[in-house]
Amino acid sequence: MKRVNRLLLGVGAALVAVLWTSQAGGQGDGQSTPLQLKYLGTAGWEISDGNVVVLIDPYISRLKYGGGGHPDDDRPQFARDDVAQSDTTLIDSIITRADFILVHHGHFDHLGDVPYIAEKTGAKVIGTETTMTILRAYGIPDDQLYAVSGGEDYQFDDFSVRVVPAIHSALGEKHYHDSRRYDRYTDLDAPLRINQFIEGGSLMFLARFDRHTVLTMGSMNFVERELEGLDPDVLLAGVNGSRLGLYKYDQRLLNVTGNPPIIIPTHWDNFRLPYGFSQEAGVARNIAPFVSAVATISPDSRVIPPTHLETIVLQ
Ligand SMILES: [Zn+2]
Repeated sequence: MKRVNRLLLGVGAALVAVLWTSQAGGQGDGQSTPLQLKYLGTAGWEISDGNVVVLIDPYISRLKYGGGGHPDDDRPQFARDDVAQSDTTLIDSIITRADFILVHHGHFDHLGDVPYIAEKTGAKVIGTETTMTILRAYGIPDDQLYAVSGGEDYQFDDFSVRVVPAIHSALGEKHYHDSRRYDRYTDLDAPLRINQFIEGGSLMFLARFDRHTVLTMGSMNFVERELEGLDPDVLLAGVNGSRLGLYKYDQRLLNVTGNPPIIIPTHWDNFRLPYGFSQEAGVARNIAPFVSAVATISPDSRVIPPTHLETIVLQ
């Protein structure tokens, strides 16, 4: 179903969105609310359709760890074997509500702030058993935790989500592979060190909102056959350098997802830099070539490059 044929972007969009609600065919309160996608940086999103607020890999702290920082960033430097700390003041200023949190995999730049956010909001969290084991170590109660393997298709009130089996970015010039997993028998003492946030397998999600379906990515990789027939309205496309080591990544991704009308690059920024620091290098290196590629491969698709903490509004 391709009902998204127009988009509204950034500042000023809210006003125009109001003008278009009469075309939405809403049937009551909340029915005509546009889909709002706020980019949290990294692979992180806050998506709301007026009924539910869904967070995707909400990583706010953007710790300076493992190199790749900026000399003007005077925050403390973390090593990978340092105990992880969430910037709870910053999180509180950005995240006020969540009904669901979808976690693609367990690495720190995806899961690191979820223990605090899950506790603060009471959100239901969907992710791998490794992710659930980490959250359990932080004291998140079992009734908030939904361990999945990929293949599940769950209906909740006002929201449904299909869990899609996926694979991690081909880091280290394709030498990355981590088969470690956590389960109920794993001994974990929170707070964990940054390097105890292991991948634990990778997922994607087809999140179905009131009038839109959003296919989410947390890596620059995918299992092509698992995406056949999903035909999302909106694709959050992993767009970072490691995709260049994959066979025809852009073309295969867009074709198998049915050339989505709206494509929003994700996980393209330098997540070691705080909000407010320039991300122009990532725009030039990752987004600009991707926009050009989409124009050739899927000319009817529209790419919306996101900006940190700004909201994209889709009617
Ligand atoms: Zn990762």
